[in-house]
Amino acid sequence: MNIVVCMKQVPETTEVRVDPETKALIREGVKGVINPFDENAVEAALQLREAHGGKVTVISMGPPQAEESLRQALAMGADDAILLTDAASRGSDTLATSYTLAQMVRKLGDCDLILCGKQAIDGDTGQVGPGLAERLGISQITLAIGVEVSDGKLRARRVLDDFFEVVEVKLPAVVTVVKQINEPRHPGMRNVLKAKRAEIAKWSLEDLDADPTQTGFDGSPTQVIEVWPPERRSGGKTLEGPVEDMVREIADVIKEMHFAAG
Ligand SMILES: Cc1cc2nc3c(=O)[nH]c(=O)nc-3n(C[C@H](O)[C@H](O)[C@H](O)COP(=O)(O)OP(=O)(O)OC[C@H]3O[C@@H](n4cnc5c(N)ncnc54)[C@H](O)[C@@H]3O)c2cc1C
Repeated sequence: MNIVVCMKQVPETTEVRVDPETKALIREGVKGVINPFDENAVEAALQLREAHGGKVTVISMGPPQAEESLRQALAMGADDAILLTDAASRGSDTLATSYTLAQMVRKLGDCDLILCGKQAIDGDTGQVGPGLAERLGISQITLAIGVEVSDGKLRARRVLDDFFEVVEVKLPAVVTVVKQINEPRHPGMRNVLKAKRAEIAKWSLEDLDADPTQTGFDGSPTQVIEVWPPERRSGGKTLEGPVEDMVREIADVIKEMHFAAG
């Protein structure tokens, strides 16, 4: 099975600055990590490869520093990693991101399954996976908590608010995964060192034969108008003294809240 995992590097901290003019995140100088759901997608891909053979390729669109997160995916066991890094793709909305990732998948060719996280923890739209399926004209399953492959079909358990659902699609398909699907493996030191030396291909938009009007700010009909942090509530109280007294005080507060709420 040839599996492609889409991985986004996200800021490690929530204390990020926003460019006042473009309203895009300023990622330069901010430590990046693999989007947590994408780590689950890498793990799911590795487990499928272990069961069925094949190859896992991790792709990302982002600034040059996203290479570090791709190395983490290689250390986990991915076979290959490719970074699309091009100043002209900065400011891409989900439409432009899914276009660019679809061009990367097309260039790779011969792909059975594309795995994404259910959402990125910075942009939080959850639109890129479904957008990518639409761009490629293939089936999609979102919010997968389990996947099995047999006879060219993929069966997934989906987790919804009040129930689970089992659905089946013919491959190729795009599947987005939730945290509970697995526990991502911790790469050993040997694999980390090996990944540090690995070659990571860097592609530009030119390598993709991409239409420049469909990517970056120019190709993005969605613009972020305003970004601001939620108001922080103040007025907390720090308890001190014997544990029993502190527990009693907390219990009194909860009781009071309960009565106040009727
Ligand atoms: C505060 C803020 C608000 C935004 N609001 C919007 C908005 O309302 N509408 C809009 O169109 N754009 C918005 N954007 C831009 C958006 O973050 C980018 O388009 C981003 O590249 C993809 O969207 P996402 O982060 O929401 O990803 P999601 O759709 O949440 O990501 C789902 C999955 O797609 C894959 N993926 C996503 N991005 C990449 C990537 N660059 N490389 C590889 N795989 C990837 C990953 O597997 C990820 O888990 C916003 C950005 C910010 C910072």
